[in-house]
Amino acid sequence: MKCPVCSAEAAGDECPSCGLIFSKWKQRQERAKLEARAALNILEQGPAQAAVDLRRGRIIAGVFLAAWMIGLTLAARHHMRTRRVSKGRSAQAGEMVPFLDPKTGAVRMVKVYPAAPEVQTEKTVPPPPSSSGD
Ligand SMILES: [Zn+2]
Repeated sequence: MKCPVCSAEAAGDECPSCGLIFSKWKQRQERAKLEARAALNILEQGPAQAAVDLRRGRIIAGVFLAAWMIGLTLAARHHMRTRRVSKGRSAQAGEMVPFLDPKTGAVRMVKVYPAAPEVQTEKTVPPPPSSSGD
């Protein structure tokens, strides 16, 4: 038998020139052929598309997970920051304090105004006019 690698003439299962074992080489060739055929079948039947979709789905899921984690981290950090600000003493009038704008979500510095005097609601509500259309 002629060695498929080095073309040396060999009598047994092993090439005397390069040491190739023909039976093993044959097995490897057969396996490679089968794998190639399987890959070709997959390409022809189209599950490759499904594999791509699966991978894309996994990537999308990963992106979503990452975004969620980032959002969670930012929210936690923001929560901690705002809590640190509001904890402890209350701000004095005229002091600049950070304020979370609920519309923009940005923190800006605002001046603290003195608290408005409490409105007495009991007396100030006048009775409704009982004019019945004279
Ligand atoms: Zn050989």
